[in-house]
Amino acid sequence: MNYIVFDLEWNQSAYGRSGEHPRIPFEIIEIGAVKVDENYNIVSEFSSLIRPRIYRKLHPSIRAMLNYDEEDLKKGKPFKEACQEFLDWCGEDYMFCTWGASDLYYLQSNMDFYYMTKLDFPLKFYNLQQIFADLYDSEHNICKLEKAVEMLNIKSDEPFHAAINDARYTARVMAEIKPMDIADRYSYDIYRHPRTKADEIIAYHAGYMEHISTEFSSKHEAMEDKEITMIRCCKCKKKTSKKIKWFQTSQNTYMAVGKCWYHGNMMAKIKIKSAGGSDDNIFVIKKIIPADKKTVENIRKKQEDIREKRKQKRQSKSSVES
Ligand SMILES: [Zn+2]
Repeated sequence: MNYIVFDLEWNQSAYGRSGEHPRIPFEIIEIGAVKVDENYNIVSEFSSLIRPRIYRKLHPSIRAMLNYDEEDLKKGKPFKEACQEFLDWCGEDYMFCTWGASDLYYLQSNMDFYYMTKLDFPLKFYNLQQIFADLYDSEHNICKLEKAVEMLNIKSDEPFHAAINDARYTARVMAEIKPMDIADRYSYDIYRHPRTKADEIIAYHAGYMEHISTEFSSKHEAMEDKEITMIRCCKCKKKTSKKIKWFQTSQNTYMAVGKCWYHGNMMAKIKIKSAGGSDDNIFVIKKIIPADKKTVENIRKKQEDIREKRKQKRQSKSSVES
């Protein structure tokens, strides 16, 4: 099996929302990729500029970042042709690897725009940004590719934000960190999500458990579902006892902590994602990760802070009303 480490550059409407095509808010203008063997050696490269069809003028902030302009893009290939060449070059037996989850998302949305054959579902890939965060940051915070390259002392004499260069850098980061248990560190792409209960994804990885749900009509309905709010130990799959009840951390995120008798505290996080349809349905991504004492303390503190803020808000509101 090979790893296909790829990176995309995309453009958007230079005239804001009014100039935006709703089916393709981001149009891919470059595909860069390297094929990496099981020993993390680069064995082949792919690079293609794409002639834009929807947004021919570059958005100013994108033009400022790139090393090419509209004139160069005119010499590019149409998306469908370049993308098909890319997929043919990938071969039969491979896993996609990207820095973050958005490249795979935009690749598929652009393929859909041209009615190309969809990629597999469910689609596993390696999110090297997340893998790097899991291995190098105790709080699992993600960082930019530039920072990872710098932290690992990787020579960076080629400019970033050229798709082929970023793909090479990502492959070098991968070779440098050589995750021993990479087979278990895959993610699921969420460009497409489960449509039925039978398609739901429940995966126990080496370090965490992940549940991607089918659709619900609202987040309230989801948060009343016993299976959604259940916190199972990510190591032995047994039900944990409640330590910190589910609480809302932002508009679309929730947190809780459970305790396994054998494996200790488990931090659970829920993200509510729009299902993208016209009926405002949502689906849920739940992750359960072991948590040390300090992390649990931080979560409790976060809960108290949020409670305090709400209380103040209510008080100031009621004083205005009275
Ligand atoms: Zn357990």
